[in-house]
Amino acid sequence: MSTTTPPAAGSDQAVRPTDPSALVAALREHLAPADVLTDPAAVEPYRSDVTGLRAVRPPAVVVVPRTVEQVQAVARAATAHGVPLVVRGAGTGLAGAAAAPAGGIVLSTEGLAGIRIDADDHVAVVGPGAITDHVDLAAREHGLMYAPDPASSQISTIGGNIATNAGGLRCVKYGVTRESVLALDVVLADGTLLRTGHRSVKGVTGYDLVSLIVGSEGTLGIVVGATLRLLPAPTHVRTLVVSVPSLPDAGRAVGAVTGSGVRPSTVELLNAATLENIDAHSGTDLVDRHGGGLVLVRTDGPGADAEITALADALSAAGLAAQVLDDAEGERYYELRRTGRGHRTDLWSVGEDVAVPRSALVPVLEAIEEIGRRFDVEVTAVAHAGDGNLHPGLSTPRRHGETEPPARLHEAADALVRAALAHGGTISGEHGVGIAKRRWLADELGAEQVALQRAIKAVLDPAGILAPGGFLADDGVAPR
Ligand SMILES: Cc1cc2nc3c(=O)[nH]c(=O)nc-3n(C[C@H](O)[C@H](O)[C@H](O)COP(=O)(O)OP(=O)(O)OC[C@H]3O[C@@H](n4cnc5c(N)ncnc54)[C@H](O)[C@@H]3O)c2cc1C
Repeated sequence: MSTTTPPAAGSDQAVRPTDPSALVAALREHLAPADVLTDPAAVEPYRSDVTGLRAVRPPAVVVVPRTVEQVQAVARAATAHGVPLVVRGAGTGLAGAAAAPAGGIVLSTEGLAGIRIDADDHVAVVGPGAITDHVDLAAREHGLMYAPDPASSQISTIGGNIATNAGGLRCVKYGVTRESVLALDVVLADGTLLRTGHRSVKGVTGYDLVSLIVGSEGTLGIVVGATLRLLPAPTHVRTLVVSVPSLPDAGRAVGAVTGSGVRPSTVELLNAATLENIDAHSGTDLVDRHGGGLVLVRTDGPGADAEITALADALSAAGLAAQVLDDAEGERYYELRRTGRGHRTDLWSVGEDVAVPRSALVPVLEAIEEIGRRFDVEVTAVAHAGDGNLHPGLSTPRRHGETEPPARLHEAADALVRAALAHGGTISGEHGVGIAKRRWLADELGAEQVALQRAIKAVLDPAGILAPGGFLADDGVAPR
């Protein structure tokens, strides 16, 4: 999806020259032969995530452990042989964080996908390879739900969601992945199994290592089990849409919703270019209906009806006409937002992910439009607007004979990230830093905090085995 050219994936920095055959033999002592892949064709699908970012050399081996003990054995082998190890969920990541390490090990969690619902305690106990939607569906059989819902929930794994601290459309009400993780089982680089967190609703003993692991992008440990908070599933959902002809209208709509006293379960903003994309891809007529843009708002739970009426009234008071949809139409709009957009192969494109304070949403949207004009790139924008989380898309036409995107696309992406930082925002709202965004890491965190974060990694992973080419890589890459 992203076509930026950040530093090559999977830096070789932790790799000591090693004999791959000795490593593979060590792994085969613990895993079934079919779960240790070395054939180039079998390894190839594990080399990158959705970004396509990849190391110049393939990994030496892909392993598919079926037990926690096997994960521990793989970690010990990686440490003993001094080879880098990258954990892989479903490879839907948008930051290149799951890119395979050159000559190293990819540990796929697809063989660790168990799901158990403990309805009395409102928790799910799951393996890292469990598909996000499968956890939610299993919970629904008990009248419960797993709340975080990245738009990739049909294909992403819980382990990947935890490692990226994934957000989603419902997170404006229910919080991002971090808020739903009670306890984690984590295998460290030396093979130690760490059990951290608590199964009880409350628990404050010691440092909060669960929060440290959540969002750590596979650099601190391998999540092998998770205890997840479940909530009562809302039986009732209501949806409204508001046409927003201009950016100030969009700002007023979001402000009216978030200032209404009602806590909606979804507040999404789609600009005109995004509506055009959906129309072209899904055969809809959103541009005709909504022109310059659209805000989609949902409420859920027993109060959904009263709340959607209150929100429509608040929007009306702000001079905006809300249209409350029937259930079928509400679902249709929701699905169009989640899955209605298409990927255009005739364009070079960069999908961005930044987050800003809600009050900065409109200024940053204006800045993005100005950046589009300044660098002559097309701009689309989708936002989890209630969270201030923007996903602008930047693109230019692919010209005949071009083998890589024009420099102005990277320059526009750089200007966009810097605009978010200048407005008090962050370089990633939910997709993570990975390889794709690490050149901006120090711009946000500062050198001291980057050094501190590297020191924390060194405590848990002193040999630098886990994702050495990831967001904390110290390979001299200067911010672009
Ligand atoms: C169409 C589409 C829509 C998307 N929508 C959203 C969205 O709404 N919100 C959002 O946040 N993201 C979204 N994403 C991005 C992506 O789906 C998420 O980042 C997701 O959490 C990645 O899960 P995964 O299983 O694919 O992980 P991978 O891509 O395989 O890995 C991602 C990172 O997690 C690490 N990791 C994976 N499993 C483990 C483990 N068990 N232990 C330690 N580290 C691990 C990897 O090493 C890597 O650093 C979307 C992606 C696509 C393609």
